[in-house]
Amino acid sequence: MLVIFVPLVLLTIQSVTDKFGGGGIASNESGCISLTERKRIQTIVEEFHARKGQSDITANTKYQVYPIGGLIGTDIFPNNYVDLDTTSGLRDWDCTTYTYNGHLGIDFDLRGFVEQEIGVPVFAPKDGTVVEVDDGNFDHNVYGDIQPGNHVILYHGGNQYSLYWHFRRGTIRVQAGDQVKSGEELGQVGSSGSSTGPHLHFESWAGPGSQFAYDPHSGGCNLGSSGFVAQQPVPRQFGVRKFALSMVDFSRFPGPPYEMPNAANYVVGSGPVGFYIQAINLPVNSNFRVRFLRPNGTVAFDSGTGTFGSNPFYRQSWWWWRYTVNLNTAGAWTAELSVNGVAQVTAPFNVGNAYPLNSNLPPYKPSVAIIPPVEAGAPLAVQVVAPDIVTDPDYDVVRYRYVWRNGRTIVRDVTHAGRLDMVPAKLPWKSQGWTVTVTPYDGMAWGQSTTVVWSNEAR
Ligand SMILES: [Zn+2]
Repeated sequence: MLVIFVPLVLLTIQSVTDKFGGGGIASNESGCISLTERKRIQTIVEEFHARKGQSDITANTKYQVYPIGGLIGTDIFPNNYVDLDTTSGLRDWDCTTYTYNGHLGIDFDLRGFVEQEIGVPVFAPKDGTVVEVDDGNFDHNVYGDIQPGNHVILYHGGNQYSLYWHFRRGTIRVQAGDQVKSGEELGQVGSSGSSTGPHLHFESWAGPGSQFAYDPHSGGCNLGSSGFVAQQPVPRQFGVRKFALSMVDFSRFPGPPYEMPNAANYVVGSGPVGFYIQAINLPVNSNFRVRFLRPNGTVAFDSGTGTFGSNPFYRQSWWWWRYTVNLNTAGAWTAELSVNGVAQVTAPFNVGNAYPLNSNLPPYKPSVAIIPPVEAGAPLAVQVVAPDIVTDPDYDVVRYRYVWRNGRTIVRDVTHAGRLDMVPAKLPWKSQGWTVTVTPYDGMAWGQSTTVVWSNEAR
């Protein structure tokens, strides 16, 4: 009998610190542009529209790029589209409900304030004239109905306008009257104005006012041709878009958009190990399984199948797990998260014999790809294809330095948290071709660079 009781006692001790938590992430639901702001900008745009001459640039109805420096579905999540249902119901262009009642734009969400503070660029998606700019307002709001927001309004010729809201304070690079090129940086994403977290509200008007707002995406509930030259597929599958290991008690932290501590170095012995995720599109009634694997691949801990608590469908959610694990051997361990039977994250962490352990390791070398211009005159872009979820061995938030050379001339040199960067086509491009060097940085150490080359002869 005693033999049977011993493991039961051990299990009881182990469960004292075993914890799981999380939930849905709040979405902007109270109007990204407040009614007071809407009235004011309506007047400004109507006046601009009335006095503009016929000499303005030629209208081109399609956007050449998406207006944000990230990858849709990982570092950027389009949480809300235009609500095409004129009643109290919800309907977006894709016949789903990724919107809120009365929403007139597209919300591109960052993962949190740390990414905002490092910076994520907003780009002009086509040529335009700057109609209006407001900057200098507080940019860490987490509640709606606060105004005003830092913003830019562009005119694209004909009857077309586009609006960019919630900029990070002090980052707007253009002023009223400027001509901007497709792919030119306007500023950086923030959470100013009526905003519950860092995101870009991008709104399109086919006339001088909110009554002309439309969604440029083409789909089953928004027929006709797309307003993008190259409309991207939208993420509808479950995905993890942020992951970090830590030994802290996550229940003491507020969760996204705020950051939490991260750590990937542990000492041999029994102690708490945990991690948190930000997820998109979590199916209803999902389940999970967490395992910790020793350096030789054997299982040191297995949570078994757990549930998210009879969860509803969540467009965006965050979750954390923390277990006491007997880290009985030094070396390279692995944390593994499966959701609904599919392994989603395989994450390395280091277990050493004593402190001091490795203080910091540089981020992983990125795999980078050029995105050629979608048409003549469109921007040239580059994206970080991989790694996707685990970008740094210590789970630090990674930023990327993008150095663009046309021939030998450095044309753009920026460091930001977005996984995509671009340059306008209408720079004085030479025939020597383009070189883009992308170097990751975790705030303390630089990782290895990747350089890609593109010849504009092929354009
Ligand atoms: Zn919005």
